[in-house]
Amino acid sequence: MSDRPTTDWAFDDEFADALETVPDDQFDRERFVPGVGPLSADAMLVGEAPGEQEVNQGEPFVGQAGNQLDRALEAIGYDRGDLYITNLVKVRPPENRDPYVDEIEAWRPVLEAEIDRVDPSVLVPLGSVATDELLETDETITDLHGQEFERGMPRTSDSSSGRSPREREGRTVVPAFHPAAALYDRSKVDAVESDLRTALELA
Ligand code: URA
Repeated sequence: MSDRPTTDWAFDDEFADALETVPDDQFDRERFVPGVGPLSADAMLVGEAPGEQEVNQGEPFVGQAGNQLDRALEAIGYDRGDLYITNLVKVRPPENRDPYVDEIEAWRPVLEAEIDRVDPSVLVPLGSVATDELLETDETITDLHGQEFERGMPRTSDSSSGRSPREREGRTVVPAFHPAAALYDRSKVDAVESDLRTALELA
């Protein structure tokens, strides 16, 4: 795939302070997959956690769900290489289970540092786990997908950091169905595309 994000910066250097906060027992280097994409990206896609393919290739969303994401982006005329793509949790959970709350908590400072640094116009949580986390809601992705929300400032920021009023007010979030949902339920193919189109048109 030629349009995979190329990263000309080092995750470990860029997010060194936040990475320091992750407890050792949550930071298995052998299963670690950093976020990728331009730090100047206008849109940030946030998944749950890497799987086996992601660990093998060292990049988020390169397995079956990633291929589905690529197809959706291609269908709506966007280039994956223009997006910042990351996960809530940067370490692959055993047996591809959903990440646990303590794992999400442990990796939250790193995600917030990524959001702060990239400062995207739109955040796109993929699926219910990322949506619940970014919007602090228990509503289902079925109810929320493809709609525009405003998120409060990341908990790691303080209001004196020179942000513009718009940034202090919050950040646009458009939840999307997880691309894996379209692998198991072909009726979701159009919904994934339309969610991503709605989100990326705001970027
Ligand atoms: N691959 C990822 O990187 N994240 C997901 O949420 C699913 C697959």
